[in-house]
Amino acid sequence: MNHFQFQNGTLHCEETPVSEIARTVGTPFYLYSRATLERHFKAFDQSFGDIDHLTCFAVKACSNIAVLNLFAKLGGGADIVSGGELFRALKAGIPASKIIYSGVGKTEAELRAGLTAGILMFNVESAQELERLQRVAADMNVTAPVAFRVNPDVDPKTHAYISTGLAKNKFGIPIQEAGELYQQAAAMEHITVKGISCHIGSQLTLISPFIESLVKVKAFVGQLNDQGISIDHIDLGGGVGITYDGEQPPHPQEYARAIKDELGDLKATLIFEPGRVIVGNAGILITEVQYTKSNRGGENEKKFVVVDAAMNDLTRPSLYDAYHRIEPVMDQGAAHERVDIVGPICETGDFLARDRELPRVEQGDLLAVMSAGAYGFTMSSNYNSRPRVAEVLVDGTSHTVIRERETLESLINGEHIPEYK
Ligand SMILES: *Cc1c(COP(=O)(O)O)cnc(C)c1O
Repeated sequence: MNHFQFQNGTLHCEETPVSEIARTVGTPFYLYSRATLERHFKAFDQSFGDIDHLTCFAVKACSNIAVLNLFAKLGGGADIVSGGELFRALKAGIPASKIIYSGVGKTEAELRAGLTAGILMFNVESAQELERLQRVAADMNVTAPVAFRVNPDVDPKTHAYISTGLAKNKFGIPIQEAGELYQQAAAMEHITVKGISCHIGSQLTLISPFIESLVKVKAFVGQLNDQGISIDHIDLGGGVGITYDGEQPPHPQEYARAIKDELGDLKATLIFEPGRVIVGNAGILITEVQYTKSNRGGENEKKFVVVDAAMNDLTRPSLYDAYHRIEPVMDQGAAHERVDIVGPICETGDFLARDRELPRVEQGDLLAVMSAGAYGFTMSSNYNSRPRVAEVLVDGTSHTVIRERETLESLINGEHIPEYK
């Protein structure tokens, strides 16, 4: 359930007409619904009931500090993958004690920043990272709380670019080899072994891969316990999918029930790192039609709708061939036609949708690209020297620009022409 609905043929976000926001903010822009963000966070978090757990929102899915702040107020933590995300999470009011640091390539400066902040734990992904963390912690005279991210070699049955839990992926430590690292870590003076983590991929539409990896993690935690290494935090990653088109992902409640059933009497604090399932359907991208045109080649006529948003603003269609539903903001019941919806960027790969049935639109019409809240703005770039778009948050009948549209000046911020001799 989300709060983007048509009322009298015009798209509303909560009680605010989208066209009204477009008039004041200009296009393109990302639009988020506060009620939907909160609803989705609570639906996930509360599905685990009174089980000891912490929901750490995956910041990379949608990292605006206004969005993170909503989750902070609901008691959420953060799953971060860079020093930049640590900075954002802290600025947004997420306590360091609820921050988990994931990622294969943490630099020394990033480890230091995490230790300085006093985060809950580092999900370590290699022997070398463990050594570096021990050295940095020793230098700072602190102890670093550690979980190892294990790679359970489970096929999440999702897009190859967002599969992370197979042996051939770069992520984690093979579960067979992790035992030795736990032994080493337990003997290190500036490391405290705290937990275990795994994250097998994103946009999963089946529960079985989650359970398959939990079975492996559980067996492994049993072995560690036998060796006197106690694990009190089990981080099961993110990855629950959403409906973009016809997918039928598990509801968080089903996911939670399956996890609870499989856990049995295992005693630990559970950590979850959901991203997409919380924000994906809580955000949309609004764009304006610039031109329509047809290219005729022999028998075939191809129609194009050229809009002012492009692959630099929303990369998912180009990168993953991802599907996003597209709706005219004003639905006037026009006849449908088959079109490609493309941006102004000089790449054939610059499209938001291809061969899509859409009510006939004209120059100046607004289109809503649905389900764009996750990996939308955060993956955007300045390619073709396009200022990044504004982000807007609706709360009932009011809206706030939570990130201003970038200016032309900001495009060359930090650039310098050398003084030639
Ligand atoms: C990306 C990521 C997540 C979030 O994945 P979603 O599919 O958006 O829920 C969680 N944990 C880690 C380690 C990630 O890299």
